[in-house]
Amino acid sequence: MLPTLGTDVLIVGGGIAGLWLNARLRQAGYATLLLESASLGGGQSVKSQGIIHGGTKYALHGALTGASEAIADMPRRWRRALAGDGELDLSGVRLLSDAHYLWSPGTLAGKLTGFFASKAVRARVEPVKDGALPAALRDPAFRGSVYRLDELVLDVPSLIGRLAELAGDGLLAAREIAPLREAGELVGLSVDGREIRAQRIVFCAGAGNAELLAALGLSQPAMQRRPLHMVMLKAASLEPLYAHCLGGGVKPRLTVTSHPAADGQWIWYLGGDLAESEGVARDETRQIATARHELNDLLPWIDLSQARWATLRVDRAEPAQSAQARPDNAFLAEQGRLLVGWPTKLALAPDLTDRIFASLERHAVRPAAHPPLPALPRPPLARPAWEELLP
Ligand code: FAD
Repeated sequence: MLPTLGTDVLIVGGGIAGLWLNARLRQAGYATLLLESASLGGGQSVKSQGIIHGGTKYALHGALTGASEAIADMPRRWRRALAGDGELDLSGVRLLSDAHYLWSPGTLAGKLTGFFASKAVRARVEPVKDGALPAALRDPAFRGSVYRLDELVLDVPSLIGRLAELAGDGLLAAREIAPLREAGELVGLSVDGREIRAQRIVFCAGAGNAELLAALGLSQPAMQRRPLHMVMLKAASLEPLYAHCLGGGVKPRLTVTSHPAADGQWIWYLGGDLAESEGVARDETRQIATARHELNDLLPWIDLSQARWATLRVDRAEPAQSAQARPDNAFLAEQGRLLVGWPTKLALAPDLTDRIFASLERHAVRPAAHPPLPALPRPPLARPAWEELLP
């Protein structure tokens, strides 16, 4: 039997939510241990597009919603962290783009009237033209309007790597996790036969939360999965592009982000409406054909003849909403020593952590003295999906 370990906060799940929380808690003097059953970032985080939204895309139907208000401060907070001057020191993390763009092809400008009617939106977007256009849109054949959003795009693998560094000795590769109860109360977890006791246990395991809750006999908080069918392509002819292309609806027709592959080429990663319900219903061949058709229609000057293509199916995991709506904020539920959370967006990981700190404060959970941790088996960092699918 391995010796029992004690910590202040035991975190389950090494995606952005768990790793961000872990780093903030350690900085505040709490003892922590983070359990990861697969690879760090390998759930949704490293498969995300890395956009630190300020909420502008949620205002496409002309009004700022709850989502836009809650998320509006995130670009500022992340920028400060990237500058080494914020709540965490993320100064080594690679910034892929200092801005994300909103691009309205050809004739759609009129449809944006409602969008620009909001003063709050006008303050956050800036029209760009000619030489200031993203390189991939700088072609004589380009028609349409482009706006620069105050949003950034991060290289998520380097972000996860930095947060793993900040975790110090507090990461543990875990296979079998079971509840540890005393007098009917959850007091910790039994991990591969070793007892770990904690003042608080936080489940932030993305899609894994449902199973962890079921093992405790809990059905609340309920979780929803929203499936996506993303497309990626790799070609020497691609230059980086970070943009939402507008269609007629309230969601972008296409969201393009670009990610550096290990061989120096760029990967274009395509989401937006293309990857949502109709895209989910298409098989891989039809999804690639649709994506190719979209790019030929929108960016006919880009040579895709040598491009290699792949698709990736991945679910967003979130607290259940009515009619599978998009949740507006990070979400946290509490029950005794157990906290269960979903950030609902990479960008909102700081918001989830704020909510957990507020809960610790409310219940006067303070750092306690614990013996140092022994050397523990460390979970690996996730490899980006494009390195697996388009090596
Ligand atoms: P995850 O990243 O899924 O991490 C959960 C971790 O828990 C995983 O490592 C998993 O292995 C581990 N785990 C699961 N079960 C267990 C267990 N029993 N024991 C131990 N560990 C366990 N958001 C944005 O803000 N901007 C974007 O551009 C963006 N793009 C996206 C694109 C796609 C295709 C998708 C799917 C999502 C996107 N999102 C984006 C949303 C964002 O990726 C997620 O909200 C965020 O990454 C969730 O982080 P998480 O840490 O909660 O979960």
